[in-house]
Amino acid sequence: MDSSLGVYISIPFCKAKCSFCNFASDVFGMERVQGYVDRVCEELRGARGVAAGRLARLPERVDTVYFGGGTPSLLEARHLEQIFGTLRGEFEVAADAEVTLEAAPGQVGERTLEAAMRLGVNRVSFGVQSFVDTEAAAVGRLHTGSECHREIGRMRTAGVERVSLDLIAGLPHQTEESWGWSVGEAIATGADHVSVYMLEVDEDSRLGREAMAGGGRYHAGALPHEDATAEWYEAGCSALDAAGLGQYEISNFARDGYTSSHNVKYWKRLPYLGVGLDAHSMLLSDEPETVAVRWANPDEMGAYLGGSGDGSGLRVLQAGGVVVDRGGVDEAFEESLFLGLRLNVGVDMEALAREFGDGRVRVALDALGDVELAGLVERRSAMIRLTAKGRLASNEVFNRLLVA
Ligand code: SF4
Repeated sequence: MDSSLGVYISIPFCKAKCSFCNFASDVFGMERVQGYVDRVCEELRGARGVAAGRLARLPERVDTVYFGGGTPSLLEARHLEQIFGTLRGEFEVAADAEVTLEAAPGQVGERTLEAAMRLGVNRVSFGVQSFVDTEAAAVGRLHTGSECHREIGRMRTAGVERVSLDLIAGLPHQTEESWGWSVGEAIATGADHVSVYMLEVDEDSRLGREAMAGGGRYHAGALPHEDATAEWYEAGCSALDAAGLGQYEISNFARDGYTSSHNVKYWKRLPYLGVGLDAHSMLLSDEPETVAVRWANPDEMGAYLGGSGDGSGLRVLQAGGVVVDRGGVDEAFEESLFLGLRLNVGVDMEALAREFGDGRVRVALDALGDVELAGLVERRSAMIRLTAKGRLASNEVFNRLLVA
């Protein structure tokens, strides 16, 4: 029997573009929002036809909904009403569904909040990144630390059951002390979930490009060394753990019972439908030789808005130049390992052997021999998982598996 569906709704609008941001989000004029919401709703209405055309099973029942961005909290009440109305018209949304709205502190209007609560949002995820005002300002965040505390209190007063915060280690001007202070402030809010990311210096963000070019714009000259960032990340893991926010994935920490059910679907290869700009989908398939079907929406606004509800205009995912939109047993096995290893609980190799055969599991275990000796992965009976050191060097582990 199929699992219930997770629905991801991409809202790529932001008030200002943060210098470190490498998402397909931008400061599109708010006058474009209505047309965008109409297109998202058209996509939801056409999802069943798109899935059928791709021989993929689209579950009827939805048990998680995630508004990601961008800054979805910038939507007006009428936009949320339109999206929820369409979603409930097309799917059976479980009464106890986890419904998350990503938000920027200070960018949740009173009417939007009232509508979100009325429509079923029960989890708000704030992009805080740093409680230190100079650090937040240096990367273009528009809030202060005290505003973050006020906003979290406001959510609770409005009845939001669950609050998650994002933090970034490795921001310009950050120090060991200021990082520790930000983590302490996050704990002090009583948030039930915290995500910790290490700053990515790559060519997909203004800050990354400037740092790679050796320039000083966007405070690139004040970036901490990556070794220091890795140490702070580890210290953050320990502090969160000691405060009852246990690590359950490389970047995610939660109190017992408060993991993000939506995000766990990605790591457990449970079906999800993504609608909106650059949204990705993964559905299971009945087609012979195919286990899963994946696709991604265009990451350019004009191309997305120009697409039709029947799914034309969607692009297939490319990996190493090979189209992998229809994943067979080998791909499903690889993904189970790669994604499962991200979770602290690890991967049950006996279960994988039952599902995918002993041969594949033996090859994978042989490939992991070196990294096990190096202390990056550990085995406990049938379970294999990354160690704390391995979570910092996860790419090295994944590369071994890829070679195998
Ligand atoms: S608010 Fe989020 S999505 Fe928008 S620019 Fe900043 S980091 Fe990117």
